[in-house]
Amino acid sequence: MLVPFPQSRIRFCNDKPILNNRKYVLYWMQANRRLASNHSLDYAVRLAKELGKELVIYEGLRKDYPWNSKRLHQFILEGMIDNAKEAERISANYWSYVETPKNPAQGLLKKIAENAVSIITDDFPCFIIPEQIEKLSCKVDCQVIAIDGNGIIPLSEYGNFASAARILRPRIHKLFANHYLLKAKPSYKKSELANLNHGSSAPFPKFEAASSEISQVLSEISFSNNVEPVLGTKGGRIQALKFLKEFLHHKITNYETLRSKPDHPSQVAVSNLSAYLHFGHISAEEIITAVLDWSEEIYTKGKSSCWTPERINIDFKGKRENFYSPVSSANSYLDELITWRDTGYQMFWHKKEFRKNTEILPDWIKANFARHKKDKREYKYNKEEWSNSKTHDPIWNAAQTELVHTGRMHNYMRMLWGKKIIEWSPSIEEAFDLLEEFNNLYAYDGRNPNSYTGILWCFGLFDRPWFPERNVLGNVRYMSSDSTRKKFKLAAYLDYIDSLTNSQGSLF
Ligand SMILES: Cc1cc2nc3c(=O)[nH]c(=O)nc-3n(C[C@H](O)[C@H](O)[C@H](O)COP(=O)(O)OP(=O)(O)OC[C@H]3O[C@@H](n4cnc5c(N)ncnc54)[C@H](O)[C@@H]3O)c2cc1C
Repeated sequence: MLVPFPQSRIRFCNDKPILNNRKYVLYWMQANRRLASNHSLDYAVRLAKELGKELVIYEGLRKDYPWNSKRLHQFILEGMIDNAKEAERISANYWSYVETPKNPAQGLLKKIAENAVSIITDDFPCFIIPEQIEKLSCKVDCQVIAIDGNGIIPLSEYGNFASAARILRPRIHKLFANHYLLKAKPSYKKSELANLNHGSSAPFPKFEAASSEISQVLSEISFSNNVEPVLGTKGGRIQALKFLKEFLHHKITNYETLRSKPDHPSQVAVSNLSAYLHFGHISAEEIITAVLDWSEEIYTKGKSSCWTPERINIDFKGKRENFYSPVSSANSYLDELITWRDTGYQMFWHKKEFRKNTEILPDWIKANFARHKKDKREYKYNKEEWSNSKTHDPIWNAAQTELVHTGRMHNYMRMLWGKKIIEWSPSIEEAFDLLEEFNNLYAYDGRNPNSYTGILWCFGLFDRPWFPERNVLGNVRYMSSDSTRKKFKLAAYLDYIDSLTNSQGSLF
């Protein structure tokens, strides 16, 4: 039996009609780049069935998006290869498109839309996606619907703008159990979609390369930015599921204690899933379910591996601990994945302008930085020096090297890295621009709501005033490389960073 589809996930983007005389319901996959655990896909399937129409799934990749590079392209293309295999397995009519000089994107979507009864797409509140949806909704003559599958709780259900995680947490706890029962379909069987594939063919040559051919495809495209893919990093759903499994088997038990310690990546107890979440290769709902089922198995000593909302401890509503499960590492991880992640997403949902600058910061922070505008900067660097890890500070340089060479940065180092850019930049505006550029250019998980809440956290967002008042940062929390060095044994982390540039396995 079908579970009801939550109305709060649905946003009508124009008031144009369903055009029943046309061929197919079009699902334009933009943010949830997967064919499982996907609310947009579920909605498109329902609509196609209800209207007795074909379902076409379109996943496209243009070359001109902001911060475009071989690094990001390769990650997305690997995801498309996984999706093509899954589409074949479930018999879905999946059209994958990659823009190349021979195969330009101009007018393509409009052309595909000419046969669309209705267009369903993903309602992602950041990057270029809101504008793309708006443009499409104006240009086409059929209905356009955006589905919010960003998290386990539809963003519109959170109510008023929540300016901090502690404000959002009780709302999440109130809504969680209900939405746990309304999750997207974990996967499709061939028999469930077969009647929806009438074999319509794409009006463009489909992207059908194998993994080994990706570098050839990349060489045909001219990118605005020269950022190479990272050897050994692979995008796509298959890799995302592998990371999830590895996290549950080897790392989650230490999440609370080892998450924050910079170390060799094999020793840092984190999931590594942010890039896969960003590109939609895996859903937050699937990770939440897997973590809760794992916690149930631990708690019941193997008697059950199926968590249900009865396990929720309502006495801990609004608290970080004990709410979802008596297993503390599960609560700790889920608080990051749900509370902190959704705090960023709901901010963008309410205020799209967030990503542009530091204007969103609360008044006390703006007044603070105005007071310290003319403070003498102890160090000054040009962009090349920043880029190439050429500051006086080996710990900052290590963090930057990690970002540039691996497309990732340890979360604690990310905080320190951001704070120091603010401290050593001529103005907070320049610091913001540099942080945005580095984060979005090099990090696989960049260009996301959490990119901006993470960066703005360094400017004091979500935080309180700290004392004593310091040079440049004023009352905004200060972090130093010296105290990082004292707090953690950094030798293994620094050796790892050295190995990125010195070993034979040098990545560039
Ligand atoms: C300056 C700065 C920039 C950042 N830029 C990004 C970014 O571009 N994209 C991004 O996804 N995160 C960003 N973060 C937040 C955080 O660093 C990453 O989410 C985390 O390191 C990703 O690694 P993981 O998937 O192994 O995390 P895990 O610790 O395994 O956490 C699981 C998931 O929870 C969420 N999460 C964890 N920590 C945070 C957090 N502090 N804020 C919001 N969500 C969180 C993420 O979705 C993450 O994938 C930034 C933080 C800072 C300080």
